[in-house]
Amino acid sequence: MTLLAGVIGDPIAQSRSPRLHGHWLRRYGIDGHYVPLHVRPEVLEATLKVLPDIGFSGLNCTIPHKEAAFRLADDVTDRARAVEAANTLMFTEDGRIIADNTDGYGFIANLKQQAPEWDITKPALVLGAGGAARGIVAALLEVGVPAVTIANRTHTRAEGLAALLGADVLPIEWAGASTALADHGLLVNTTSLGMSGQPPLVFDLSSMSDHTTVADIVYSPLMTPLLTDAQARGAQVVDGLGMLLHQAVPGFEAWFGRTPTVDEELRRAVLA
Ligand code: NAP
Repeated sequence: MTLLAGVIGDPIAQSRSPRLHGHWLRRYGIDGHYVPLHVRPEVLEATLKVLPDIGFSGLNCTIPHKEAAFRLADDVTDRARAVEAANTLMFTEDGRIIADNTDGYGFIANLKQQAPEWDITKPALVLGAGGAARGIVAALLEVGVPAVTIANRTHTRAEGLAALLGADVLPIEWAGASTALADHGLLVNTTSLGMSGQPPLVFDLSSMSDHTTVADIVYSPLMTPLLTDAQARGAQVVDGLGMLLHQAVPGFEAWFGRTPTVDEELRRAVLA
């Protein structure tokens, strides 16, 4: 039987997921397809009803469907519940929809692969408090980072995230983020600043210690100005593409029955 999965979004043309999953399907010789589907919000519910009936095993969800898909699911994993959003759906044989969120998992798996020297015993400083930040902060706490400081342009959003995720999350003013960096083992940019077409992220790294790891989840460009600056100062740096690749692993495993490997060949295929 040909296995089917895909990604829903509005728009959808920008998604790299079909290339990513397509590479794995070819590499492992699996009889399956992973398709991009342009789904507008008003037909989301109907789409989720019909796709399992026509043979789909599940989906990835991208903007703007992550929160709505979470609400429409019959069951949710703990990590989806923690961030109230889904990026991966599994359709079970008895007709149920299970919502998962693998963004935080992907971020951590990538960090472990690309930054083996990351000091997990020190607090992390996260810039941004949007959808991606939620999953990342929850995952950092889950793996045992003692505390997470969040700085966001809109301070109330950082406070909201702290209220959702608990006492180990400390919201600070956006303007004070550079000075706070000194005590942290990890700096993560989860804002869209630095992305092609967006304003640059202006951040002073001079108070960074020798052992700070710097990660950016923006992956276009791959080496953002933040990472270039951090690397020039001798920091271990982690780009955003790896998170995108690793977050796809649990879905591929569930839909196509094989645990795929994230390696250089996959990175090249997705960047091509
Ligand atoms: P989002 O929910 O819209 O959040 C955007 C964040 O960026 C907010 O914290 C926002 O602050 C901040 N921001 C935007 N413009 C700003 C500016 N001019 N100055 C200061 N802060 C600004 O978006 P998201 O889903 O979290 O995604 C954020 C970025 O991560 C995007 O570039 C996305 O492509 C990337 N991403 C990468 C991966 C991956 O796998 N590598 C996964 C998910 C997302 P305010 O709250 O003040 O607006």
